[in-house]
Amino acid sequence: MKTVYGPVPSWRLGKSLGIDVISVQKICSFDCVYCQLGKKDEKTVKRARFVKVERIKKDLSEALDALKGSDVDIITFSGMGEPTLASNLGEAVEVVRGITDLPLAILTNSSLLHLEEVRSTLKKIDKVVAKLDAPNAEIFQSINRPHTSLSIDRIITGIKELRKAYEGEFELQMMFITENKRNAEDLASLAVEIDPDRVELNTPLRGCPVKPLSTDELRGITRIFEQKGLDTVSVYEARKPEVKSVNYGETSKRRPE
Ligand code: SF4
Repeated sequence: MKTVYGPVPSWRLGKSLGIDVISVQKICSFDCVYCQLGKKDEKTVKRARFVKVERIKKDLSEALDALKGSDVDIITFSGMGEPTLASNLGEAVEVVRGITDLPLAILTNSSLLHLEEVRSTLKKIDKVVAKLDAPNAEIFQSINRPHTSLSIDRIITGIKELRKAYEGEFELQMMFITENKRNAEDLASLAVEIDPDRVELNTPLRGCPVKPLSTDELRGITRIFEQKGLDTVSVYEARKPEVKSVNYGETSKRRPE
């Protein structure tokens, strides 16, 4: 299996070439009810090397060669689970920097941001998109179904710590579904405390068992965030770029239609 996929047309990142530092199968500290990679009861918070950086180097060089002449806006660490679980993420960042001048982003579920070593690796990345779906333990358990060692309070503290020390572009991503739509006010207040550059307001539109909120519902939530002075982008309103993937099979495993 290749470690590089896409580019994918991302409403949040533009034309995004993905790097999967997990690969092969879903490995995550959460098992979100809306996860498009499917349900997996076994969760982990143990950091490990899942793929060798030499493989990333080879796959990325090949993908960039194949893409010559096509547009890529950004390289994004994401894929089959939580990328900060990869203990060689920092090495992977250095390898990618050695190959391309494209900006780097990461999509993280924020579960390991309480770890200093994770925060210091993320500081080397140009854009961090950090997940926060729950303002309290009850919603956290029902939506994100986390590893037993994780607490939402510690995650929120970790997000704040990173935000304070981080000099790149920092965004929060929030997935809204029926379970947390009444918590929009609390989540918006937390976002004000965190002070991100932007809040991405999402609802699951890609294949998963959870019903998305309607455009009106998400518009109402967007208003709550905007009234608090937050800059927002919503999945229903954002435009997706057109892109052609270099390896459709690898892309569809990570981004099922
Ligand atoms: S954090 Fe992402 S990969 Fe992990 S379970 Fe949730 S949606 Fe799936």
